[in-house]
Amino acid sequence: MIRARDIKKAYRRTTVLRGVSLNVQPGTIHGFVGPNGAGKSTFLKCLVGVVHPDSGTLEIDGIDGRRNSLEVRRRVGYAPAETSLYHRMKAVELLDFAIRYHPHSDLARGKALLDDLGVPHDRKVGALSHGMKRKVILAQAIASNAPVMIMDEPMEALDPEARRIVEELLKDECRKGRTIFLSSHDLFSTQRLCSQVTFLHRGLVLRDGPVDTLLSGVPGRLHVQLREPMDLKSLPTDGGLSWTGNGVDWQVSFETPLESVTRQLSTLPLASLKDDSSNLEDLFERLYDDESEPES
Ligand code: ADP
Repeated sequence: MIRARDIKKAYRRTTVLRGVSLNVQPGTIHGFVGPNGAGKSTFLKCLVGVVHPDSGTLEIDGIDGRRNSLEVRRRVGYAPAETSLYHRMKAVELLDFAIRYHPHSDLARGKALLDDLGVPHDRKVGALSHGMKRKVILAQAIASNAPVMIMDEPMEALDPEARRIVEELLKDECRKGRTIFLSSHDLFSTQRLCSQVTFLHRGLVLRDGPVDTLLSGVPGRLHVQLREPMDLKSLPTDGGLSWTGNGVDWQVSFETPLESVTRQLSTLPLASLKDDSSNLEDLFERLYDDESEPES
């Protein structure tokens, strides 16, 4: 649904994108993560035609993004990171204005979304809190009814309740067949939402693929509570089990299959066992620690 090949972009002396290629499959939620300054926003802006790449090819829903950016915009509900525009409009006016050029937009749905998210329709955008502005931007992307949604940090500035509502909304839209490509710093939310993820680093794709496959390369982890204290020497280490903790409270990491780990743990006086398993946060730390070698 989204296909980018070797996208490069530089601003004067700053090279931001060094050749980014990725595919977003139709009907999926695909996460785009990376540290600040990695180039995520710039890439998303290239996709929607706000920024023109220096080279490379872009295709959204089969349309060449560089030749026909207007057609691409009609197919994309874009939720930008900036909330500084259109301060004098009322929230509902901004919504109406932003979705008008989308052929299948649904203003009634947009208004209902503002209600669900607690945004006062008649409040001027400039008088809304940062989080409320973000909600208007999200509502317009969803109400555009465009087949593709491109969202720059959709969870940013949302309180936990709003975050939960937005996650459910996005999952619903995906179930209806829409394709969602979103950048995020919230890796737990990314893991809950996305089936695929692309890690960007200094303008290059560092890792890319289905979340399950990416996580299968990260060690598993269990939190182990014992009924009686044990010391490190007495704990089983076959198959590369690695222990941290002390007394009755331990954490074990492993790269072997879970069955062989539980077999070994069953020999211990277990009080409780909690899955503390690997997540995107761990993978992120591993990937970026390996890459952040000191610069000369
Ligand atoms: P991310 O979204 O991953 O935090 P950005 O795409 O916002 O990264 O920024 C990547 C780099 O590009 C940063 O170093 C930023 O300062 C630079 N940059 C972004 N937009 C511009 C611009 N309009 N002019 C000059 N430099 C820019």
